[in-house]
Amino acid sequence: MRIFVVNCGSSSLKYQLIDMEKEKVIAKGLVERIGIAGSVLTHQPNNGEKVVIEEDMPTHKEALKNVIDALVDKNYGVIKSMDEISAVGHRVVHAGEKFAYSVVINDEVMNALKECIDLAPLHNPPNILGIEACKELMPNVQMVGVFDTAFHQSMLPYAYIYALPYEYYTEYGVRRYGFHGTSHKYVAERAASILGKDLKELKIVTCHLGNGASITAVKDGKSIDTSMGFTPLEGLVMGTRCGDIDPAICGFLMENEKIDIDGLNNILNKKSGVLGISGISSDFRDIETASKEGNKRASLALEVFAHNVRKYIGAYAAVMGGVDAVVFTAGLGENSSSMRASICNGLEFLGLVIDEDKNNIRGEEAIISTDDSKAKILLIPTNEELMIAKDTEALIK
Ligand code: ADP
Repeated sequence: MRIFVVNCGSSSLKYQLIDMEKEKVIAKGLVERIGIAGSVLTHQPNNGEKVVIEEDMPTHKEALKNVIDALVDKNYGVIKSMDEISAVGHRVVHAGEKFAYSVVINDEVMNALKECIDLAPLHNPPNILGIEACKELMPNVQMVGVFDTAFHQSMLPYAYIYALPYEYYTEYGVRRYGFHGTSHKYVAERAASILGKDLKELKIVTCHLGNGASITAVKDGKSIDTSMGFTPLEGLVMGTRCGDIDPAICGFLMENEKIDIDGLNNILNKKSGVLGISGISSDFRDIETASKEGNKRASLALEVFAHNVRKYIGAYAAVMGGVDAVVFTAGLGENSSSMRASICNGLEFLGLVIDEDKNNIRGEEAIISTDDSKAKILLIPTNEELMIAKDTEALIK
């Protein structure tokens, strides 16, 4: 069975075609600058080749049309016709409280996703456009929606209710939703499998540390708390996002900097995080380099980040009544041994002892704690596309 996985952003479309028997990517690619001059599709069949197609793509429909043409192309295509595709799995960011699991997309689901636009105004509209374009171009193929929020729907009210007037929850849906759910679920399942244990008997803290970063307490296979909240701004310090701050700072800045709500949102989402602290970059590679060269604010940014993640690991060990494993994933989590070491430094009291040699690794599955560490530390590259494809396969079977 072949599953086509689609992830649409406002001006981008990422895709993978996955052979489910071998769990192997047959082709993948990315369309950038949809609706902007200079649209470009970079298509990678699984033979190391890279095909670049530059053509006007005013909407997601033209983008998808080009992707389909590339997939079935005589020279660099990987299938003869789209009939070889069994289903399409769509990444959708926000499903509110409507879906705790992935679902086959029908009119009712489409309406539910449209109702969630208020909650994710930047993400859900392009996700919806992607689904609509696929339905138009592949009218006979089943589509499945896989939601970033779904895995976290298992949180209990005491973990998702904010201490605001309760009416804001009932009227507007103001509550913690959590994001990166597909990634947290994937690495938690992989961790159980690598440790040879039943996921239902484990207390795992999953740390998704990329440009966007979030951390989840996974107990008995369920998300019981997570750091991102009503939006992906809350929680950990990120590349450019502030994460947890005193909410009173917002009014203070609006008054003193003479900015409106858009200005404030821009500061909190785009100018803060390790970029804001270091003044150098949102990319941890640049900050690590600057820190090594003696830049004090770069070192401070790294220390703030590590302290913040460490604090959450401790908090989540507390809410789960212990911790059996901590998992690192995503760009920074998979690649930076120094950041992993720095986060784990001081967590020995929880039975988490990192092994310097084993930690000297990047981008592959590994247990990086010492052999006698009571709790395990793991590095697991995330694979949201495979998770989406698996959910899709399970649903259409
Ligand atoms: P997202 O999907 O949220 O855009 P990724 O998971 O791809 O992000 O992570 C991107 C981030 O990972 C980069 O901004 C960079 O900070 C970090 N990163 C990637 N490779 C390395 C590395 N070798 N060392 C340190 N940080 C890295």
